[in-house]
Amino acid sequence: MRDQLKLLEELQRHDARLQEIDGVMKSLPEKLRAAELALRELEKLLTKEREELLDTEAFRKTQEDDQKDAEQLLSRAKSKLSQVKNLREANAVQREVETTRRQMDSRQEDVQKLATALAQQRDKIDEHESRLTAERQAVESQRGVIAEKLRELEAQQVEIRATRDQIAKLVKPDVLRKYGTIRMRRGMAVVPVRNGTCMGCNMNIPPQLYNVLQRGSSLELCPNCNRIIYWAKLLEEEANP
Ligand SMILES: [Zn+2]
Repeated sequence: MRDQLKLLEELQRHDARLQEIDGVMKSLPEKLRAAELALRELEKLLTKEREELLDTEAFRKTQEDDQKDAEQLLSRAKSKLSQVKNLREANAVQREVETTRRQMDSRQEDVQKLATALAQQRDKIDEHESRLTAERQAVESQRGVIAEKLRELEAQQVEIRATRDQIAKLVKPDVLRKYGTIRMRRGMAVVPVRNGTCMGCNMNIPPQLYNVLQRGSSLELCPNCNRIIYWAKLLEEEANP
């Protein structure tokens, strides 16, 4: 039975390693997901900024048209000045000239402000576009690294699984079945007993069972956690004769 226990322990080591690799393989793409999400956010932001830029450009166009209208009004008012017949008329036309000039100045100011705003919007878009390019490249290279790592892990899996299956063939079918059932329920299926304590659940083993374990001639389960147990020294002595 000592050989069987030794095989089971080895089998368990391989199964644990396979499980560990499986976990790493599942977690690797998760890391990429966060970076991809950030990329989508940046793309969304850029779309919004480009739409805003179009709006501002359209608004500037109407302001420029208004400015041209005001210019025309001003030149028309100015030409009236040369045709006035009396002081009263002159005062009225003068007021008209001043009003339209104020209108024109104010439009001009608006157009200038919009030009500044447009330049700022374009700068922001440029900045975000170059950031997007850089982040896309970073994600791509990360994707490459992860794909490479996954290939390595897959190769390791194949190798470990082959060894694992070789070991499993040497285990008696009923023992292997028991191991499989316990492993599914408990994770660890085979645990040592040290100084009378089960290392799976930390409970003390009844003295009579402990004596049986020390003989190492039968497959025993922990009465508390139902894992396959063995006397720790039994396998250690084999390792260090
Ligand atoms: Zn136990």
